[in-house]
Amino acid sequence: MDDDAQDRARGTLFGQAIGDALGVGAEFMSREDIARHYPDGLNDYADIVRDAFRSVWLPGEWTDDTDQMLCILDSLLQHGRVQPADIARRIHRWAAEDGRGIGYTTATVLGHPDYLDRPQDVAHGVWQASRGTLAPNGGVMRTAVLGVWHWRSIQQVCIDARSVCRLTHADPRCVASCVAVSLAVARLVAGASVEDAIAAAALAGESDWPGFGRWLDGVLQSTLGDLALDEPQSIGFTLKTAGAGFWALAHARSVGTGLRQVIHQGGDADTNAAVAGALLGARDGLSAIPARWVRGLHQGAALHERADRLLSMIGAGRN
Ligand SMILES: [Mg+2]
Repeated sequence: MDDDAQDRARGTLFGQAIGDALGVGAEFMSREDIARHYPDGLNDYADIVRDAFRSVWLPGEWTDDTDQMLCILDSLLQHGRVQPADIARRIHRWAAEDGRGIGYTTATVLGHPDYLDRPQDVAHGVWQASRGTLAPNGGVMRTAVLGVWHWRSIQQVCIDARSVCRLTHADPRCVASCVAVSLAVARLVAGASVEDAIAAAALAGESDWPGFGRWLDGVLQSTLGDLALDEPQSIGFTLKTAGAGFWALAHARSVGTGLRQVIHQGGDADTNAAVAGALLGARDGLSAIPARWVRGLHQGAALHERADRLLSMIGAGRN
């Protein structure tokens, strides 16, 4: 892995964490709320309003999205392979010990007494009980790191993203979102153009949810406002989050601009920006992320240390 590819791999992890930590400042807000709370925009962790919901996190602290991505990353660091049962245990333990910001579907699935014995079956059962309507973004918010791990293998990235998504989210739209985002990350880390990465993502997503390619085309031809990320009925829907991410990947001039654009749309802003940040970071690299956001990240040093270990394992062919 050359230096540029390493920079893009680090950019994926930091882009996700920073989008999450900054986006929480606008989570569950409408565009009007954001204009009122942030008349000059939400530009730094210190700007985040300290209301009851947001005070649960320190300024610059990432939320459940990145906590769960780190469950995957730490499992990779320990075992040197994607081991879904271990990832399920780690997410389950995180929910018991921390659990701040956990989503409804994830909490329901993890709370099932059989979860640790057969996580994917439990997740499938919860989805079926919703009559196939439940398709939130709790999978896609954590799986970008899987695009870094087997960055050279399209096939393996798809297999990994699919199985880790299904630990909590069985809906084909959730699975397609995870596969598409992880695969786009892999292609970008490998140095592919944005166009190539998006084409690969569209094709892969289509195999899990027919219609994904057409949906993605529609997103890319929309304005960010057209995506209506703050529409109350669809906040947290996986295709809103994946859509925000791919829109930013295709249209944002820089990581900083793209994250601010997505966050200022409100809705599930931390999760939308986590996914947009992972994709933009994979496109432009850690070196292109505003330094003050990297420095201000709570536990940024621990993330640097994990990124170093991950890249040294990948560099040594231990992935
Ligand atoms: Mg969150």
